[in-house]
Amino acid sequence: MVGIFSPSLITDWLVPGRNLFLTIHVLGVACFTYIVAKRLVPLLRAERDLRFDQPLTRLGRVLKFWLGQWKHPRYKFAGTLHILIFTGFILLATRAFTVLIVGVSPNFVMPGLAGRTGHIYDIITDYAATVVFLCMVVAAVRRLVFKPARYAVPPKYGKSHTADAVFLLGLIAVLMVADSLFAASLAAGHAQQGESVEALAVLTLPWMLKMVIGAMPLATLRGINVGAYLVHAITFYFLLCYRPFGIQFHVETSLFSVYFAKLERGTLKPVRWGVSDEHLDQVKSFGVKKFEDFTWKHMLDFYSCADCGRCADNCPANAAGRPLAPRFLTIKARDYAFQHYPVLGRPKEGKPLIGSVYSEDEIWSCTTCGACEEECPLLIEYIDKIVDLRRGMIDDGNVPQSLQKPLKALESRGNPYGKMEKKKADWVKAAEFQQTCSVKILDHNQSAETLFFVDSITSYDDRMQSIARSTSRILTHIGENFGILGAAEKDSGHEVRRFGEELLFQSLRDHNTDAIKASGVQRIVTADPHAYNALKHDYKDLPPVEHISQVIAREVKAGNIEFAGVQNADNVYAYHDPCYLGRHNQVYDDPRDVLDSIPGLKRVEMKRSRDRSFCCGGGGLMLFYEPKEEQRMGVLRVRMAAEAGANVIVTACPFCMVNIEDAIKVAGLEGKMSAIDLTELVDQCIARESSTEKQETVMVGG
Ligand code: SF4
Ligand code: SF4
Repeated sequence: MVGIFSPSLITDWLVPGRNLFLTIHVLGVACFTYIVAKRLVPLLRAERDLRFDQPLTRLGRVLKFWLGQWKHPRYKFAGTLHILIFTGFILLATRAFTVLIVGVSPNFVMPGLAGRTGHIYDIITDYAATVVFLCMVVAAVRRLVFKPARYAVPPKYGKSHTADAVFLLGLIAVLMVADSLFAASLAAGHAQQGESVEALAVLTLPWMLKMVIGAMPLATLRGINVGAYLVHAITFYFLLCYRPFGIQFHVETSLFSVYFAKLERGTLKPVRWGVSDEHLDQVKSFGVKKFEDFTWKHMLDFYSCADCGRCADNCPANAAGRPLAPRFLTIKARDYAFQHYPVLGRPKEGKPLIGSVYSEDEIWSCTTCGACEEECPLLIEYIDKIVDLRRGMIDDGNVPQSLQKPLKALESRGNPYGKMEKKKADWVKAAEFQQTCSVKILDHNQSAETLFFVDSITSYDDRMQSIARSTSRILTHIGENFGILGAAEKDSGHEVRRFGEELLFQSLRDHNTDAIKASGVQRIVTADPHAYNALKHDYKDLPPVEHISQVIAREVKAGNIEFAGVQNADNVYAYHDPCYLGRHNQVYDDPRDVLDSIPGLKRVEMKRSRDRSFCCGGGGLMLFYEPKEEQRMGVLRVRMAAEAGANVIVTACPFCMVNIEDAIKVAGLEGKMSAIDLTELVDQCIARESSTEKQETVMVGG
């Protein structure tokens, strides 16, 4: 038989075409099913993870982050490339299945794609195949010639992934060429046979290939047609079965990772899903010690990582040369899963993760800033995993030397400095402050509508007490009936929890919850984003909590705060977003609105700001931990401010203040750069009518 006809009708091979292609399909699908089933084994042995709530919200996120590729344009070039490839794949899916079925069922047409609709679909997919092919070429050139730094694999993390990436790009390119050649040879053959044939879309791969092969003899065209079909089918199934062995597995798993992704920011997973705090004493082992202690969702994350390096590219710990790059937390866990749960053979016993897969320093190096999670296009989670690994270490008594003292002090005194509880409210006793402001201590004799939750650093640190006093003066200025808990307030426990000391956190939380409820307040205000995040997300059943920047912004808008103007009009200010105010709680505009409403204040934005803000070095217990690093995160941040043309860094967090003021000294920028808290700046600039309300001059950084 000479001429072009369906590959299923080939009879001049050892086996008829239909049987051959049916065998390929059955083998391909069976192999893929077997491999995926084996990949699911560790997930079945993993810890529980309750992610089956809010299906509509989750579907909405799939539409936005998976189908809509929402985060990809954050990296413009690579993001555009990915969107084009992803869209091409979605469009080509139906065409690929149609082609496969034609191998066993001649004249098969996908329902809904007959006639004119089918022709329009063919034109669209001709362009899609061409665009995907070109993207493969561009991506390969990018990988091999331009070598973006974020794809590099430092030797301590293993071998380069370039060869694997380029091999996969090559396979997809082959698939596109085979598909296009099949269409081109079919069109050319039909034309030679004098059959009516729909025109191929101009300037597409099939169109160009038809130009090249169009004049070839019919027998040659038939060979090309069948050959292209065979290559397409084999490449398709090879790719399908090869993907679960590496980064391309995300093609299959990412939809599920995005669907089951964490919905609430600023929160932490419980020690064990389904086990209440009251029953934690029944949990034999806390946290993640061995691979199977991860939850199934966290294992799914390991499979879903596309190895794009965006998380590590934005990780301040990585930038400062600490032994942590979030991308490799995932890659190492995935390698572990592949080695210990092989496709062929039985699962193998593994060693504890710390010491074999991860180092202690790696896990303690994280500031929980959230930059990695903010950046990941597939919503892969890191903080919960890192905290779970820390819980495991703490459970084994594996606490870094430098953290032992502050943790003991938190246990005995309720603050990491080991200071007396009765000194907690000493900051209100400053003589000059008392002339301008009176702060109630909420005990049995005094009550208030608003609680100012001060937290440890702002209460005890001499420098940070200025933030407490400025906050109090601002609250007084707007007529707030407020007070503090004084000795009854313990550390919020925010960092204690994120360092893995769950039980200590719970005792601090329970104490504070009782004290807050007993005070009878209606709302809570704090100037510390860590306390804000703890009270908002880690505590339960409390009155509403606000950060002071939100209060100030609202009062400025309501006309209850007016500014006299900035004290030094030559200063250029840059606002540094604290991680637990910005990324974790999405408070970006309020502090900026406040700054922009101060007459004469010149403000610039740092390159890394808002949701890409660069952590100052971490708060809470991070101040006590001495990480191995090449340079301080704070120094990098101060340099970013200098590059932006600022000479004053405004922040809204006492921990940022400690890190940034230290960094200014380390960077040798004393006298050229200063730092000030938003409350201090507002306190300086408020237009006060009454002389009794005039503040003590706070000239910090101004
Ligand atoms: S939370 Fe921050 S420090 Fe921790 S891994 Fe992510 S980006 Fe790095
Ligand atoms: S975790 Fe996300 S951002 Fe990081 S490499 Fe994987 S896919 Fe990229």
